[in-house]
Amino acid sequence: MKFICIHKDLAQLIFLGVSNCYLVRERDGFTLVDCTISGQAAKIIQAAQELGGSIRRILLTHAHVDHIGSLDQLHAQLGTVDVAISQREAPFLHKDLSLRPNEPQQKPKGGFPGATTRPTHTLTDGELFGSLRCIATPGHTPGHFSFLDERDGTLFAGDALTSIGGLHRVTAPPWYFPLTKMATWDAALAETSARRLLEYKPKAIATGHGRFISNGAEELSRLFG
Ligand SMILES: [Zn+2]
Repeated sequence: MKFICIHKDLAQLIFLGVSNCYLVRERDGFTLVDCTISGQAAKIIQAAQELGGSIRRILLTHAHVDHIGSLDQLHAQLGTVDVAISQREAPFLHKDLSLRPNEPQQKPKGGFPGATTRPTHTLTDGELFGSLRCIATPGHTPGHFSFLDERDGTLFAGDALTSIGGLHRVTAPPWYFPLTKMATWDAALAETSARRLLEYKPKAIATGHGRFISNGAEELSRLFG
């Protein structure tokens, strides 16, 4: 099991290959941010146990295959656990990719395998879920959300940004990892959303792909300032 301690007390990155997921410490256990690829449930549960807690909540940035892959297996093994995704992204969890009239009309990209697990909560922009502030960051997918831990300023950005080889726009990853760009639905909207994250002055940024960025606000300013 590979853990990377990103903040001693609050959050741990579980590195399982192509995509990241995070255990965020709460008073009653952990909130898991994203569920990576399939087949990883046992390792994620073991990681929480080794860190001395249980997973109480699952929070999803978006419904792409490499972020919800182990959701059903986790849900089956954890039993009662809250599952949350944005209101707009929730239909993608059951493979309804239809667009709303006020949205860009190009087809969402990337893999949406769906899940049998149904969310217990659907999130709106600005609400608090556990200790995490929910921020609408549409563009990569129509209902993509990012989450800010206001206790220590860590931003869990999912695929609103990418951090392979340093922090990048999701539509401008390094040539050797084109996945996030290929799977982005609307590049202009993704740019607007990522720029909006500047307002939150995140101390650190934890993305869906790549390394932990410890000087978040500085790196965001370099990209968008
Ligand atoms: Zn994605």
